[in-house]
Amino acid sequence: MNDDGAVLAALAAEMRACRRCFEAGYPMVPGAVFSGPAPAPLMLVGQAPGITEAQVKRPFNASAGRRLFQWLAEAGFDEAAFRASYYMTAVTKCYPGKHPRGKGDRKPSRAEQRLCRPFLDRELALVKPRLLLAVGGLAIETLLGRPVRLEEAVGRVFEMDGRWILPLPHSSGASLWTNLPENQARLRQALVLLRDMKGLVEN
Ligand code: SF4
Repeated sequence: MNDDGAVLAALAAEMRACRRCFEAGYPMVPGAVFSGPAPAPLMLVGQAPGITEAQVKRPFNASAGRRLFQWLAEAGFDEAAFRASYYMTAVTKCYPGKHPRGKGDRKPSRAEQRLCRPFLDRELALVKPRLLLAVGGLAIETLLGRPVRLEEAVGRVFEMDGRWILPLPHSSGASLWTNLPENQARLRQALVLLRDMKGLVEN
């Protein structure tokens, strides 16, 4: 194992053992979910794992993953190769539980996001991605460091700190954003941009 591999293994063990949110009294179910090698040219950041992802410890494992990888296939990415070659993580690594009103999963609170942020920063420092795929509003806001409407973000590429950030909508079925034709067009534009950038990322 090279130095990066050893540091990643240590970070992974620390994240898996983390109980910070639970110990601070927040309803986050301990058991961090992430995958992939470091360094890697591309890193995907979602909001938080769902219950299926938490059970099998595999990011975007269930229906949100099927939708996401359908989109990524349009941009020329094969799922197995993507999972093997690129790092996948989330703003908060553990399952936040159901939304209190039953609509999908609960969005991690600001306090939980702050508790988990040092892990995201350490992942970024280790993975050193040239391209960040930000999936969903929370990941986009976290990586850009400011609130931004999905309509303004999806279909564009941002450059920050020597990296590109390409926003995508959340791929969960609970998100109705892509139902509108104008948002479908924004998503298609994002996938065209991603396809164009694939060669830059891989070379
Ligand atoms: S969400 Fe992050 S900070 Fe909170 S318990 Fe899980 S790994 Fe730790």
